[in-house]
Amino acid sequence: MNASLCNVALPVPLRTTFTYAIPEYLRDSAQPGSRVLVPFRKKSLVGVIVDFADNAPQATKVREITKVLDLVPALTPKLIELAQWIAGYYLAPIGEVFRAMLPPLTELKTQRQVVLTPAGRNAAESLSGGELSHGLSTQEANFLEKLKGKKGVLSFAVAAQLAGNAAALQRLQRLGLIEIRENVQGMKRKMQRVIAWKASPNPELEISLAEKEEKVCTLLQTERGPLPLPQLLKLTGISRALVERMLRDGLLESWEEPLDPAEDPFDAGYEVPAHELNAEQENAFSAVRARFELGEFGVLLLHGVTGSGKTEVYLRAVQETLARGKTAIILVPEIALTLWIGRQCRAWFGARFEGVAVLHSALSDVERAREWWRVRNGEARVVVGTRSAVFAPLQNLGLIIVDEEQENSYKQEETPRYHGRDVAILRAKLEGATALLGSATPSLETYHHARNGKYELLTLTSRVENRSLASVEIVDLREDFQQTHQTSPISANLHAGIQECLAAGTQALVLINRRGYSWSVLCRSCGASVQCANCSISMTYHKSRNRLECHYCGSVQRVPKECPKCQSKYVYFFGEGSEHLEERLHKEFPGARIARLDRDTARTKRQYQETLGAFAAGALDILVGTQMLAKGHDFQRVTLVGVVSADSSLSLPDFRAAERTFQLLTQVAGRAGRGELPGRVLIQTYYPEHYAIQDAVKQDYASFFEREMHFRRMMAYPPFTSLANVIVRDTSLEKAIGWARKLSEYFAPRDGKDVRILGPAAAPLARLKKEHRFQFLLKSPKRSALTKLLSGALSFCDAKEIPQTAVLVDMDPLSLL
Ligand code: ADP
Ligand code: ZN
Ligand code: ZN
Repeated sequence: MNASLCNVALPVPLRTTFTYAIPEYLRDSAQPGSRVLVPFRKKSLVGVIVDFADNAPQATKVREITKVLDLVPALTPKLIELAQWIAGYYLAPIGEVFRAMLPPLTELKTQRQVVLTPAGRNAAESLSGGELSHGLSTQEANFLEKLKGKKGVLSFAVAAQLAGNAAALQRLQRLGLIEIRENVQGMKRKMQRVIAWKASPNPELEISLAEKEEKVCTLLQTERGPLPLPQLLKLTGISRALVERMLRDGLLESWEEPLDPAEDPFDAGYEVPAHELNAEQENAFSAVRARFELGEFGVLLLHGVTGSGKTEVYLRAVQETLARGKTAIILVPEIALTLWIGRQCRAWFGARFEGVAVLHSALSDVERAREWWRVRNGEARVVVGTRSAVFAPLQNLGLIIVDEEQENSYKQEETPRYHGRDVAILRAKLEGATALLGSATPSLETYHHARNGKYELLTLTSRVENRSLASVEIVDLREDFQQTHQTSPISANLHAGIQECLAAGTQALVLINRRGYSWSVLCRSCGASVQCANCSISMTYHKSRNRLECHYCGSVQRVPKECPKCQSKYVYFFGEGSEHLEERLHKEFPGARIARLDRDTARTKRQYQETLGAFAAGALDILVGTQMLAKGHDFQRVTLVGVVSADSSLSLPDFRAAERTFQLLTQVAGRAGRGELPGRVLIQTYYPEHYAIQDAVKQDYASFFEREMHFRRMMAYPPFTSLANVIVRDTSLEKAIGWARKLSEYFAPRDGKDVRILGPAAAPLARLKKEHRFQFLLKSPKRSALTKLLSGALSFCDAKEIPQTAVLVDMDPLSLL
């Protein structure tokens, strides 16, 4: 098609696309889904062509596209459709939706290649018989033969020369005879130096080791095996010089090894345990297969208690999908989980790294872009990833799995504010695929649909091999205090439990839901707490970094020596976070091997792998962490899980507080006793009588569901109604109030039976990232009424010149802060 105008979505917070002219020489390559460079105001921006346009908007001069970045459009037609739907449903700026879908813009070293397709090969072969098919010119025919002679691959530049020009190649591509690919080069193939313990040739010969040498020996010989040099230095804290000396003394040996992603050390020696499915798993899997047989869209909910072997069902479902020539996405709620599932997938679906791609935000931009293009080029047919992997550019999608579908991390809390699970369902619908949601504690919304018959419900009622669920006990912190008069976050019971673990040589997980050292810094003299300069939230003290940080906007402050308000010296740090807890555990259990996993200690893929790998390998006794430890992990030797406080999530001003608490506690309880050893869970709380805690202790989902549904019905909350949160914001308080007043001119007369409108009121987080915030809360039993009203509100804003950036719509909000 040779259109001369197109609509481009740009990463700007505006709800429109922009029309550009396509210059003659770019008409072959500018396709819907292509990324293009365009002039915008005084800048150049990268956008995506959404579609071709018939007419230019009047009264503005149409500018021209500068450059087409992809010869193969980055986005498939289905993804363009999905983006448009998301923009409509979440009332989000279309350009921002596309930005969330696209790979990071990095200077990847790419090589554009021309590859012969099977059809092209046939054509080339029949040519040698003297026929000219497809209306090929002689030059084109000669080109196909040459390409075939070069094993079917040529660089684009050479190919264009041979075929005549780039347009000739594009013609051949349209005929399906060749494919043009962006082949992303791997990162430079570097070698790395690996250090190993050298077994003594004569075991009788006793060598006496210095303390540091002993440490290296334990690590390399028993805990981890051979390690790359930098990692060894980091884990032991020894100097390079010592390593060199030990090499000279013959205690260590070393060699060079390629740093090849296909040989991820995390995968080394990993074999998938081959399990026969048990009867319940078999039933669930047959239902999935039956759904595939129908060959049409459908949603299944796999409700299985923790440790019931859901992963096994997922993997078979993926295998079945691949066998049918289709592709699959597995979404998980935490980066850490992509490592486990990615590894299992690689082991199942090919020993090589090929075929499975992993996408999450702890990858470097280069790695992420490389993975993304492997998927786009069809080299990877299974994608494992976190939220945004729902946009993985797979073609011929057959299955999307959403593991732990109830998790909040699927909701993106910045524009576009989409929910990964809901988008997964929609994408499955657009592609005629199956969505398989899995959970031990489904969200109320999802379970409600399953009971209504909108989703098909599959159930796993017991743990594999008839292992029993962990026993859950409550530690009443009021009693603990009365007995001990201590305010340690580790109660006497929890302390004793950990002690038992250490004595038995098993492992313990300790969960705390805040990171940092102390989450409040308070003046004892005047009562002022140190607040973020940009947000109405208190600063968190990070001891190792020796500074205060705001967890909302990331700003930092020096640790105050005196109160900034009254200059008193009595500055007091309170509210223990994970960093503090780790320190305390070190003090209380001096010999134990302890590590911490939270967003401060795990920023890169390597850091995750090191800590999780060490724990799984038994090189650690206690792992402390935030809720990223609560989900999905299958550690076989964990016999104790301690929850430092169940209350912090219960006391949030949020109608989902009970649901979250129940889910978190049940998930956590699921981490204990997964192997042959029985598990025990200790939950510390000040409100042991709350139903969320009571039902979590019994691990009774059905009971919790009934009680919570009752509450939601009474209060007209989801799943009985749809919600939307509209935030009006501005750095100037006066303006924010002004916009909110103006907007209420639209909302106030429309508050009624169909849609209830509350507000404007100051948002619970009244100031965030320097902006003052007011909110309207909208509730309606009919989602369509809500959407209609909101899109009317946005038009109203445009008409009244309330800036689009000042109004933020959060459809189906998870947090009302
Ligand atoms: P879930 O995700 O439901 O909590 P997992 O999928 O992690 O549970 O499985 C728990 C454990 O049970 C894993 O170690 C897995 O290898 C094992 N497992 C799965 N299916 C079977 C089976 N049929 N027989 C024995 N063990 C199994
Ligand atoms: Zn003070
Ligand atoms: Zn802040």
